Parts: sequence; structure tokens; C-alpha cells
Amino acid sequence: NLQIRLVSRPHGLPKEENFSWVKQPIPEPAEGQALIRTLYLSVDPYMRGRMNDQKSYVAPYELNEVITGGVIGEVIKSKSPSLIKGDIILGNIGWQKYSLISSEQVRKIDPDIAPISTALGILGMPSLTAYFGLLEIGQPKEGETVVVSGAAGAVGMIVGQIAKIKGCRVVGIAGSDEKNRYLQEELGFDATINYKTTPNMTDAIAHACPKGVDIYFENVGGTISDAVLSHLNYKARIPLCGLISMYNIKDADVGPRIQSQLLINSALMRGFIVGEFADRFEEATTQLAQWLQQGKLKYRENIVEGFENTIQAFLGLFSGENLGKQLVHVADP
Ligand code: NDP
Repeated sequence: NLQIRLVSRPHGLPKEENFSWVKQPIPEPAEGQALIRTLYLSVDPYMRGRMNDQKSYVAPYELNEVITGGVIGEVIKSKSPSLIKGDIILGNIGWQKYSLISSEQVRKIDPDIAPISTALGILGMPSLTAYFGLLEIGQPKEGETVVVSGAAGAVGMIVGQIAKIKGCRVVGIAGSDEKNRYLQEELGFDATINYKTTPNMTDAIAHACPKGVDIYFENVGGTISDAVLSHLNYKARIPLCGLISMYNIKDADVGPRIQSQLLINSALMRGFIVGEFADRFEEATTQLAQWLQQGKLKYRENIVEGFENTIQAFLGLFSGENLGKQLVHVADP
């Protein structure tokens, strides 16, 4: 078995030396367990936060332990009555080629409904994040203007499409012209801004949002956020989903103080973690699958080949290598 473990806590952008590759014998399942082979694994921005030793909504990764995260696997040996050889499962497992699991730890996936990788993306955690963040906190109404940052990523591109379904004007912010073309031409975004080549983001937002911003779906923080928040409308809503531009900063950041924008516009900014909506995941997944079937939702996956490229795939999230959900393909069923 080959595993990736965290061996030291990164300061800034993680480096190869923060991880170690460990070879172990493939384990044997005990009574009640099954052995799975990893087929796809997910790399996600939140994993960076777990590499720090700090209090958060999930415990930090332990040093010298396998990095855990979303995995799709195939049961190859089982001593559990409810897991059968050949079953495809989804679970929070880890960056390793083989894992021991118990049935409570995982959910079975029906490969006849959709490609199995969708359980980590369009029919999984990122879309649920987009769904609840936008609909519950954003409360979009027809004709409103929605701005989403990280717009060409797994969460962002679903936020924009759901906002279109709800009849909003949608403006996406992403880091390349190719990404922005995809958002406008394939996904129907009304306007896009390339934050890497736009000299004045505040002016660009004003231009793209002539009626101001009713909802800002926050994925990135930092200066992009400052620019958007200076155009809020009265009673604007800001689902605070992520702050990826700040995950690797080494020293505390200072910037424009935005509280005055919230104050003068009676705006609502609310942080959330998708897990708080867990009791409604089934309802949301059904709706997402229906939109997908009706062609109202489209998705992209950015698939890196080979377990040996997992760390590169993870680091690529911070330089914008991915268009859509970033996955690593490890093996076929
Ligand atoms: P993405 O698929 O969006 O990948 C990350 C993207 O972020 C990159 O492709 C890159 O695109 C962009 N990015 C990276 N660095 C910066 C930067 N410094 N400034 C601006 N953009 C940057 O990841 P996800 O869709 O999985 O996650 C998006 C956000 O949602 C993250 O902040 C994540 O932590 C958060 N999240 C929150 C959850 C919750 O429960 N609250 C659950 C899941 C995700 P580009 O080319 O545009 O720079």
C-alpha cells in the first residue's frame, strides 16, 4: 500500500517536504470491515486549513498520519455483511491506495445513475455547498445581481448556474480568459472578470454590475472581496463560503475595513460550513440530479492521472490549475 502522510506543518504554500510517501503492506480486513481500492480521490482547498495546528470546525491533521479526504473506492475484500465485493463506495477516507473501512463510514454509490466521480463533485460536497450557501443564505430573487468569486471552480460554477436558474444576473470572477469564456459561453454567465489581468477590480465590478450587487458568494477573500463589497446594494447578502486567497498567507493580513459597507447597506454576511445542512443533503442531491438531467446544470471535472500526482493536484488549486472539480484518478473498477 502507498500512503501520503503529513510530516510537518506548512508555512505558506505547502511543499513536497511537508509530506512523506510511506509504503505499507496491504491490510487485511477484520470482522465487520472491508478493504477498498481507491478509484478517485478528491483534493480540496479546506485541506490546507487542516494542515495548520489551529482550532476549526474539524480537527487538524495529525502529524505522521495519512491525510484524510473524500474518496471513491471499490470493495475488493469484505468481512462486513453489508459491503459486497465490487460495491462502489464514497467516504471520508484518505490519500492512500488501499483502505480498511466499516459500513457506517461510507455510502454506497450506484454507478448506473451517473459516472461515479460525480459523487465527489456535481452530486457531492461542492454542489451541496453551492446549493445551501446560495439558496439558504443568499436567498436569490429574480432580477437580482449575483457575483461569485472562484467562479470556475467546483463550488463557484454551480453557484452561478443555480443563480441563473433562479433568474438572476450572474457575474463570475476567475483567474483566466479560458475559464471566463467557458463560464459565459457554456454556462450562461452574464459577465465575467479575470482578476489576474484586470488593473482595477473596483471599476470592473461597477461596469459588470450596473445595478449594484445583491448577493456576493464569497470563495476567495482578500482584495477581490474588498472590490465587490464596495458595490453592495441595500440588504445585500454575502454567503461566506471560503477565503482561498488567505489560506497560504504567512502573516496576518490587513486591508480595507468593510464593516461600514455592511452597516450602511443593512447587509448580511454569514459564514457557513456545508455540514450544518446535513439533514437536507438528500433533498438537495435529488434537486441537483434533476437539474442535471434537465440540462439546466452542467459540470466539468479536472482529472489528474495517477496517485503519484496527488500532491501536485492539491497544490494546483492554489494556482488555479483546475477548471471545475479537481480529482485524482487512481484506478478503474
Ligand atoms: P475550486 O475548485 O474553486 O479551486 C480553487 C480555485 O480557487 C482555483 O482554481 C483558483 O481559480 C482559485 N484561487 C486560488 N487561489 C486564489 C487566490 N489567491 N485568489 C483568487 N482565487 C484563487 O475549489 P472549491 O470549489 O472546492 O472551493 C472554493 C471555495 O469554497 C474555497 O475557498 C473552499 O475553501 C470553499 N469551500 C467551503 C465549503 C464550506 O462548507 N464552507 C465547502 C467546500 C469549499 P482561479 O484561476 O480563478 O484563480
